[in-house]
Amino acid sequence: VLDVNWAVKWLTLCAQAMAEHRVELIELDRAIGDSDHGENMDRGFQAVLDKLAEAPPATPGAALKLAAMTLMSKVGGAAGPLYGTAFLRAAGTMGDAAEIDPAGWAAAVSAARDGIVARGKAEPGDKTMVDAWAPAADAAKAAADTGGPEVLSVLVAAAEAAEAGAVATDPLVARKGRASYLGERSAGHRDPGAASSALILRAAVGAAA
Ligand code: ADP
Ligand code: MG
Ligand code: MG
Repeated sequence: VLDVNWAVKWLTLCAQAMAEHRVELIELDRAIGDSDHGENMDRGFQAVLDKLAEAPPATPGAALKLAAMTLMSKVGGAAGPLYGTAFLRAAGTMGDAAEIDPAGWAAAVSAARDGIVARGKAEPGDKTMVDAWAPAADAAKAAADTGGPEVLSVLVAAAEAAEAGAVATDPLVARKGRASYLGERSAGHRDPGAASSALILRAAVGAAA
């Protein structure tokens, strides 16, 4: 069940994933940005862990709201406000609920996608984290609509779509963010924010497994 223990474990696995993939995210951002994405995300999620220990949340929504506030203030750069908005919007769909069902997870991922789009004005295909979140939101909704009460399959659908979406940024030319300054030279590299987004959605699966 997607309860507060799942939410805390999700954020804990996000922190682990960012630490493990720190160098890889730095290398991706070195190719088409300013090399700080791995550091930004590792620092941000370590701060989330500190906050979770200080003030344990009572609901999944409270956990995501705490993550949103912390990411907004600690990640910096372009990704901080984008992830902050994503987690805040996702938390908003959860309210005070003790448990999130399949439709609830689909709604949370859609709200995260909408928040990122509202904040950053990128469209699918612009080679940003939207290219992970948009297919994840669509896949989660499709899985929730057809899949019955099984929540793990909805989490897996979102993660797999995000991973495929991140891989699909490789040939794209960036039209938003720092990578867009490179123009055509941004093609041939994976977008770092799409890669970290896929790690976040994969961690949500691990937390429920
Ligand atoms: P910065 O570019 O300020 O150094 P980061 O390196 O932490 O910030 O994050 C870069 C990532 O942010 C990009 O890989 C991309 O996924 C995402 N990003 C940048 N601008 C936008 C935008 N306008 N909309 C959506 N995502 C964006
Ligand atoms: Mg950067
Ligand atoms: Mg930067």
